[in-house]
Amino acid sequence: MSQFAAKRLAVVGLGLIGGSLAKALRETGCVEHIRAYNRSAQSLQFALQQGIIDQACSSIGQLCEGLEAGDVLVLGVPVLAAGPVLEQLHPAVEAGVTITDVGSTKSWLVAEAERVFGEAPSNLVPAHPIAGSEQYGVEASRADLFRAHRVILTPHANCGASHLERVRELWLACGAGIDEMTPERHDEVLGATSHLPHVLAYILVDLLCSMEQRGEVLRYAAGGFRDFTRIASSDPTMWRDIMIANREAISSRIDEYEQHLDRLKAALEDESAEAIQEIFERAQATREAFLKQSEQSS
Ligand code: NAP
Repeated sequence: MSQFAAKRLAVVGLGLIGGSLAKALRETGCVEHIRAYNRSAQSLQFALQQGIIDQACSSIGQLCEGLEAGDVLVLGVPVLAAGPVLEQLHPAVEAGVTITDVGSTKSWLVAEAERVFGEAPSNLVPAHPIAGSEQYGVEASRADLFRAHRVILTPHANCGASHLERVRELWLACGAGIDEMTPERHDEVLGATSHLPHVLAYILVDLLCSMEQRGEVLRYAAGGFRDFTRIASSDPTMWRDIMIANREAISSRIDEYEQHLDRLKAALEDESAEAIQEIFERAQATREAFLKQSEQSS
């Protein structure tokens, strides 16, 4: 059971994740007042009409007005936009307000906070909900998006214990389970499990698109293609930012992937049915074990 209760929740970037968090906390009733600032006014109007937020703010200054210790401010913007947002927050937000984010890479945020604040402030708690979809925008937000999903908290060296606890309680209130690791470890792990699969999906679709007879090629693309490439429908801007912010870890994963492809290619050239079978059986067993584990933990 979560102990989370707050007078005010403030969201910068009211998209799929920021909107879903606002909805989830609204549903629990543990926040008295929810306000948001967004680059485009459309999302704010929609959220006001739907009762997702109580107040639409016209600037980050207005968003921060009257926020006090105990209140929580969430960054729901793409990864590379977090630095410029922190620059605007720096002079405007009271030091006791807990600031957290939902970005898909974590070392970048900590480095940007160090650049803006001199050192990562104790009230900043980097976090990443491992939940979402290839949809985007507040219109696609859902109150149950985080239920039974993991949220990774990645405290930096200067992170305050009370702020960390507050963010933990906030996500527990949304029905999520919590893990904790360093920002660097997070970026390594997610580089493999999330960022590399997006690279492969985008590149496969791009490859097929560039093939001479693409009209005919795509006509014969069936369920396997659809399953494998679903995530290539994700928002290109969001994924561009993730690629840039986690470029070193992603490059290393691409190198490893190339080595594995080379192994399969060598097996094809050698006509080694045994080597191919071995790779496929190992992959199939690993995926079965993963599915079983996911079922048990959900
Ligand atoms: P989204 O639905 O596209 O929402 C992004 C929000 O950020 C929108 O409100 C957008 O405003 C605003 N924004 C975009 N560029 C901006 C800029 N340059 N400056 C200021 N605001 C800007 O995306 P999302 O899926 O919610 O993603 C938000 C964050 O969650 C990202 O950091 C992403 O890495 C992370 N995340 C996403 C998922 C997922 O599956 N989608 C899962 C976990 C974490 P407009 O309305 O004006 O466009």
